[in-house]
Amino acid sequence: MQRRPRKALIIGAGIAGPVTAILLRRAGIDAQIFEAWPYSTGIGGGLQIAPNGMHVMEELGLARELINRGSVAESFDFCAQDGQRLGSINRDMEKRFGQPAVNMCRATLNEILIDKAWCAHAELYFEKRLVGIEDRGDQPIVAHFADGTSAEGDFLIGADGVHSAVRRHVVPDGPTPFDTGLIGFGGFVPRALLDGLGQRVETTFGRSGFFGYGFCSTDAKDGAMWWSTQPANGMDAAAFRAQAQSTLKQHLRDFHRGWHDPIPAIIEAAENIVVTDTLDVATLPTWSRRRSLLIGDAAHATSPHAGQGASLALEDALRLGRLMTQGQELGVTFQNFERERRPRAEKIVAIARRNGSSKREFSASGAWIRNQIMKWLLPLGAKSMDFMYAYDARAA
Ligand SMILES: Cc1cc2nc3c(=O)[nH]c(=O)nc-3n(C[C@H](O)[C@H](O)[C@H](O)COP(=O)(O)OP(=O)(O)OC[C@H]3O[C@@H](n4cnc5c(N)ncnc54)[C@H](O)[C@@H]3O)c2cc1C
Repeated sequence: MQRRPRKALIIGAGIAGPVTAILLRRAGIDAQIFEAWPYSTGIGGGLQIAPNGMHVMEELGLARELINRGSVAESFDFCAQDGQRLGSINRDMEKRFGQPAVNMCRATLNEILIDKAWCAHAELYFEKRLVGIEDRGDQPIVAHFADGTSAEGDFLIGADGVHSAVRRHVVPDGPTPFDTGLIGFGGFVPRALLDGLGQRVETTFGRSGFFGYGFCSTDAKDGAMWWSTQPANGMDAAAFRAQAQSTLKQHLRDFHRGWHDPIPAIIEAAENIVVTDTLDVATLPTWSRRRSLLIGDAAHATSPHAGQGASLALEDALRLGRLMTQGQELGVTFQNFERERRPRAEKIVAIARRNGSSKREFSASGAWIRNQIMKWLLPLGAKSMDFMYAYDARAA
């Protein structure tokens, strides 16, 4: 008879990794997390945790902390580049779905999750970049790291994001992340620039590209988040990152020239501009191989245009934690996990990719038509997204 798995090796301390560790510890399983980068409290820009992700935070006992340290988003408003209002969606989220949508600094979210994993007695190891996995017969599974060290466990969870090394082990000749042809710029600016915005998130569709901004913290010392999404036009994030910040700022000035206030002022105030490729992983032939399982972006990375990647990663962790308590054979648990999670994750990846296409280049008349259609269709479109927010992984 197969021994009940006792020890998990978790690769990646982003979002899915620490949450999986906390939930496995609750199921009586030891968890070691290995993260490629040093521990840092200053990573990334801002993001939104949707009500479905907040249900997972509630399960962890962290929803109140997120609400206190983040900023509840009371609506998501759309404008045209001349400032004309196109519509407003995602109102009354807490009333409708039991949890609000909360904007967060990614660094704050990461700090909260890592602290909670530590408190749950998960072991965390930083500067441990996975480079290989050995999975032989009835020996423990072994993870090998770039510094020459290794670790042994009963199973391995690949929570190592869109560029997953575990994915290359699970699906050796599988698809690589798909570049959706858009590029993201983002960062923080002084809050005073957004005086009067309140708790709305404001976004603008241009003839080409998209711009957004909002608060992601209640702390007066924290800045407000902004982001710009544009057609990549043959460039990738690495090529932009190689440029000086002043060159990036000039690029943003040129791209968003003539857009409504406060966009020009946000660009002038932008510092430490972060550039990201917009990738997704639409479908993999499998999410597991023997004793290794992919979760979060490693299994189903979504481009940011549905605001769901983090929430899907949180849902994955909770569902896996629940399935692990059922005491089934590991392979059966992994198959049940994939069977349950794949349809929802892939549907949302497809929606995000479709949403991204409205941020591409339009002719002047094409953009006008898109804007008129948006005014009519936003309420209907928003309704068809309710399934994303209404999902409660605790009750699934
Ligand atoms: C610009 C942008 C904006 C976004 N905005 C939102 C949003 O508003 N709402 C939302 O829900 N989602 C958003 N997302 C998506 C969201 O960030 C991801 O879906 C989410 O972070 C996935 O969590 P994860 O834990 O699977 O992966 P990650 O958070 O990427 O964590 C993976 C971790 O694994 C580590 N790692 C990688 N390789 C190795 C290795 N070989 N060995 C060890 N460790 C490794 C990485 O360093 C990282 O810490 C956004 C994404 C981008 C790019």
